[in-house]
Amino acid sequence: MKNQQAREHLVAERDRLTEVRDAASRLSTSPAEATERELSSADQHPAEQATETLERELDLGVLQSVEAELLEVQAALERLDAGTYGNCEVCSKPIAEGRLEAMPAARYCVEDQAKVERPAR
Ligand SMILES: [Zn+2]
Repeated sequence: MKNQQAREHLVAERDRLTEVRDAASRLSTSPAEATERELSSADQHPAEQATETLERELDLGVLQSVEAELLEVQAALERLDAGTYGNCEVCSKPIAEGRLEAMPAARYCVEDQAKVERPAR
């Protein structure tokens, strides 16, 4: 894959992730709405409260994984600028094109990705 094409993929992905992150952070921090909920739950249903807590945790989980993805995409854009994009960070060999097309922010070749995910004991 050409670097220009990779950059377009990564920039589009960064914009998408930024939007998702902003939407998720609006969901998890909306003070006006929270106050409204507290006022309206004068007769509290414990089950309802549990659901709200779960929703809040889900929002935070989404937010964290989006933030992590965003960091990967930004790191890939930096590697493009540095001229090291497309090479495995461990063995420095070129990463397979098909892999980069599927995961433009990939840092490692398939072999090293497996090692990173399952460290040798
Ligand atoms: Zn490698």
